[in-house]
Amino acid sequence: MADKAILAIDQGTTSTRAMIFDSRGGVLARAQAELRQHFPNEGWVEHDPEDIWGDTLRVCREALSKAGLKPGELAAIGITNQRETTIVWERATGKPIHRAVVWQDRRTAEECRRLEAVHSLAVAAKTGLVIDAYFSASKIAWILDHVPGARERAEAGELAFGTVDCFLLWRLTGGKSHKTDATNAARTLIYDIGKQRWDEELLKLFRVPRALLPEVMDNAADFGMTDAQVFGAKVPIAGMAGDQQAATVGQVCFEAGQIKSTYGTGCFALLNTGETFVPSRNRLLTTIAYRLDGKPTYALEGSIFAAGSTIQWLRDGLKLIKSAGETEALARGGGGSGSVYLVPAFTGLGAPYWDPFARGAIMGLTRDTGIADIVRAGLEAVCYQTGDLMGAMADDFGRAPTTLRVDGGMTVNDWVMQRLADLLGVPVERPVVTETTALGAAFLAGLKVGAFPSLEALAGLWARDRRFEPSMPEEERRRRRQGWVDAVRRVRSAN
Ligand code: ADP
Repeated sequence: MADKAILAIDQGTTSTRAMIFDSRGGVLARAQAELRQHFPNEGWVEHDPEDIWGDTLRVCREALSKAGLKPGELAAIGITNQRETTIVWERATGKPIHRAVVWQDRRTAEECRRLEAVHSLAVAAKTGLVIDAYFSASKIAWILDHVPGARERAEAGELAFGTVDCFLLWRLTGGKSHKTDATNAARTLIYDIGKQRWDEELLKLFRVPRALLPEVMDNAADFGMTDAQVFGAKVPIAGMAGDQQAATVGQVCFEAGQIKSTYGTGCFALLNTGETFVPSRNRLLTTIAYRLDGKPTYALEGSIFAAGSTIQWLRDGLKLIKSAGETEALARGGGGSGSVYLVPAFTGLGAPYWDPFARGAIMGLTRDTGIADIVRAGLEAVCYQTGDLMGAMADDFGRAPTTLRVDGGMTVNDWVMQRLADLLGVPVERPVVTETTALGAAFLAGLKVGAFPSLEALAGLWARDRRFEPSMPEEERRRRRQGWVDAVRRVRSAN
């Protein structure tokens, strides 16, 4: 098996992970490091690219040592990453000229709002995105405008831009490869996802010099070989994808109509829409699920701001529980009227409501409401919000998904998974390997080097841990959903 071992680097927002998989998708080893966060101003979030690089090397070495492998014994490396986070570095030295500006960073919100008012339709038609500080373009311009001399140096071709995938590739290859993949490019706001190329008009609009940009590759491609000096051996880097897209591949959602939903701090759902770029009427995003052999497969993407973070709030804010794990037993325990609703609009409401001024509420309290009812309502909120997203997706795509594949930290909670199936009215499937993001990166790399022969072969490797069948009577489902709709109506802002 060792000859087909594949290393996946999963560089996330709060941690960096390395996982080694065998050629059946089984986990041989894993290692993880917390990533230091910097908050230099209100609404600003930064990472030090040197931390990202140092942590990456450390976790890769640790995982290799745990698996008893030498770098030279790896068949390939795949990279997956927090998306949109922006790094600009010097081509001559590989040194970043500023800390990474993280996707959550709001410093360019005003500028984006101004552009959105005028250019939203044209930009959405090319990128599938809304003009928001979340995406890379305005972050690149901010760095060039605030680091002395950077704009001139960028025009002169002395600097390089990349999202985290691209920066790690540059470092791993000793500065030989300046490449990214189509899914990461799709999140920059300067890439035309229909024509599959950087777009001159968008570059002008966001004031991004072309000389900064990497080459855009398929998700399974020759990204380069690791530098022997850096890694101790030459290993092909053969797979790359943004985290949510990698999870879609890890969940083998290769058919149009298949959907995966990842439940961590927030929740991200991606619906494979096949070869069709489906524009959204519900302000979902249109994006590239993956691109293989030059052929893009598209997706609709929706996110829930507060999923696991609602549980963290019940624990740390209200102190109703000591650990997230307690919620399952509490939710299972009976009692209460079952009509308490918690709307976790801590930072507003996302799709399909898009109300940044809405704030959260707990409703339906009676004299016998207890801790269990509030905890249950917090867990149910994630299910109702998934229902809202799936409703928007079904409306845009023209047909409703028939099953939901789930992953992420919250999916260990069987009560939530059953409730999700009940409230959606569709089966929910949980895989054996829930680290689907890393698995997807390994699948992509393995596809390229022949460790996995085809997408069909990958689909055959996906193993189900458990399938949750909906069992709630239709009448009850409708009544509860109506209660949720009513609760959301009451927290909406006036405008
Ligand atoms: P991220 O990748 O965003 O850091 P993870 O996928 O590691 O998140 O998931 C962690 C989240 O899952 C936390 O917000 C936590 O509150 C939630 N969580 C963990 N265990 C449970 C559980 N048993 N029930 C409900 N939520 C849980």
